[in-house]
Amino acid sequence: MRKTIIAGNWKMNKTHKEAAETLKKLAELVIDRENLGGVEVIIGAPFTALESAVRATENTPIAIAAENMNANESGAFTGEISATMLKELGVEYVILGHSERRAMYGETDAIVNAKVLAALKAGLKPILCIGEQLEDRETGKTNEVNGTQLKGGLSGVSVEDMKNVIVAYEPVWAIGTGVTATPEMAEETHAFVRSVLVELYGNDVAEEVTIQYGGSMKPENAKELLAQKNIDGGLVGGAALDAEVFYGIIAAG
Ligand code: PGA
Repeated sequence: MRKTIIAGNWKMNKTHKEAAETLKKLAELVIDRENLGGVEVIIGAPFTALESAVRATENTPIAIAAENMNANESGAFTGEISATMLKELGVEYVILGHSERRAMYGETDAIVNAKVLAALKAGLKPILCIGEQLEDRETGKTNEVNGTQLKGGLSGVSVEDMKNVIVAYEPVWAIGTGVTATPEMAEETHAFVRSVLVELYGNDVAEEVTIQYGGSMKPENAKELLAQKNIDGGLVGGAALDAEVFYGIIAAG
């Protein structure tokens, strides 16, 4: 059956010292794998905190994600970070195509796709983010937008590699706004996303893909969202910054 995976996305928050402190607290809360009841936990941290984050979570059930990477293997890309650099640090996942990167750094589906392919090639597991803007939803384009982003992001990803991809559905209007999609609204889009995965990879593979919900998820609404058939986890921003609050979401999983 599908894995429930709760991932934090710290965005541009926490120095390496703060990251280590928060992860020490979080590790104390989740140290006992049995406490997690099968839920997997990931923290996405800024580049400068990754090494401390990996060290702070050694021998714990917490895996570490980067929040971006460059699709090229190496070379003249001043200021950029490659998948191999992340992999060698002990990073396991990478968040790709987050709506903030799409909106502020011009990441197109083609760019996101190149990153997804490069991550998989290097042995990193991508968390591919997709999601519609409020205007898309209001004009009835939710499925169209999510379908395009999903197909674009996964172009050329093999059936075998798809087993290492997490999809995160994050309605942009719900990110950092305190406005959450209702569980029914989210489930409707998650079911659509899975139907696209069925189209691309067949039923067996599609059934195994973890589809996370993201957008103002918090301990108070996590249980109801995670109870939906096609919602298999969360990608959590603001509520992942504090270990105890984040643990409240993990415990709901
Ligand atoms: P939020 O962010 O939980 O603060 O809404 C989610 C995200 O951007 O991944």
